[in-house]
Amino acid sequence: MSIVNFDKLSSIIDIPAPARQLLAQPEKQIAFALSLPLGEQFFCADAYVVYHNTARGTAKGGIRFHPDVTLEETQNLAELMSLKTALTNIPFGGGKASIKAAPEALTLLEKDSLIKEFVHMIRKEFVYPIDFIPAPDMGTNPRDMAIIYGETHIAESVTGKPPRNGGLPGRREATGCGVVAAVELACGRFIEKSLAEVAVAVQGFGNVGSWTCKFLSDKGVRVVAISDITGGIYDEDGINVNALMDYIDAGGTLLEFGPDTINNAELLALPIDLLIPAAAGEVLHSENADSVNARLIVEGANHPLTAEADVILEDRGIPVVPDILANSGGVVASYLEWRGAKSGTITKQQETYAAVEENMHETFTRVADFAGDELSLRSAAWALAVQELVEAMADKGWF
Ligand code: NAD
Repeated sequence: MSIVNFDKLSSIIDIPAPARQLLAQPEKQIAFALSLPLGEQFFCADAYVVYHNTARGTAKGGIRFHPDVTLEETQNLAELMSLKTALTNIPFGGGKASIKAAPEALTLLEKDSLIKEFVHMIRKEFVYPIDFIPAPDMGTNPRDMAIIYGETHIAESVTGKPPRNGGLPGRREATGCGVVAAVELACGRFIEKSLAEVAVAVQGFGNVGSWTCKFLSDKGVRVVAISDITGGIYDEDGINVNALMDYIDAGGTLLEFGPDTINNAELLALPIDLLIPAAAGEVLHSENADSVNARLIVEGANHPLTAEADVILEDRGIPVVPDILANSGGVVASYLEWRGAKSGTITKQQETYAAVEENMHETFTRVADFAGDELSLRSAAWALAVQELVEAMADKGWF
């Protein structure tokens, strides 16, 4: 099942039937099992790598490390990567990988070993010409990417590495940096408020959520609610995000930081200017989309709204900045990291931020102009991305 609603899109752009067939399914997928000797038994985890479309370049996408991953979810996330790279004009294709295990259930060394086993199992994908270039996603981090580099010995085979291991200064914060650039543009356009007047709720305080909160609060935005998988915190006056990050770095938990607690359902329903889901997928669905009280949604996470929720919010006139636009900062920075690994060019942190912001300004404006008053931002973003993919496939004689 494709994420893209091709029937709806066909009324906006011309999609030749063979192109639609090619885009409606992944080009290639690998399903395998990882086995790690643990004491007297093996720890086993299913794993998937999906290449959705490589007409525009090598399959690029994160590795999700989570107990609930499925092949279908990995296919959907790979498709989103094809759309995201096409929309932002980054010369990569769309891919994704998943490991079905809970990182919290493993020691650091056990997780390292599982990541090494993952690389071993798909080692042929990392032989020139490299077929898949991973990056961090839910449950994986820069250290995991350094482990992958340690196995492949090829700097451009993986992005999201720590800067001292061939990574890019600013890549870690890049997705949050891009989300905040999208927020700034969307607030001006849809709720006609400056950032200083906006109150925000953010679901997720991992990579995307925490850096989004930090950049927002640095710009004077009141972040009044933040949650993670354990629940959330609320402060009408605005949470001190820098203090919260320090508190968590020092071993504290979100809920202990306080002052008041709130659950995830309550956070999603807060009467607020802006809601940023930046955690799991499909958190807004047909059962709870009616209870959303935000004036604007910016999707930090991938696929946080089901198709049904999207229709409900569109009918209610709540604008949604879609994932393939809002969280594209990560892949924009990954491209700089990959290019630097190939060329030896050094990029500074501020140059990474500037590149992410510039791409967001250009892409957001293109999407919003195409949407006009008629289309949702998601329909416009899908249309521009699919058009680009169709033309790339046609150029290559794929149909
Ligand atoms: P992460 O593992 O660093 O953090 C995930 C956060 O979400 C944690 O705070 C976790 O507690 C919370 N969480 C998980 N399940 C939850 C639930 N059911 N309810 C509430 N909170 C929950 O992951 P991340 O890298 O920040 O990724 C978050 C989302 O952003 C994912 O959808 C991912 O695909 C997307 N994304 C990530 C990047 C990136 O560069 N890391 C880039 C683009 C998109």
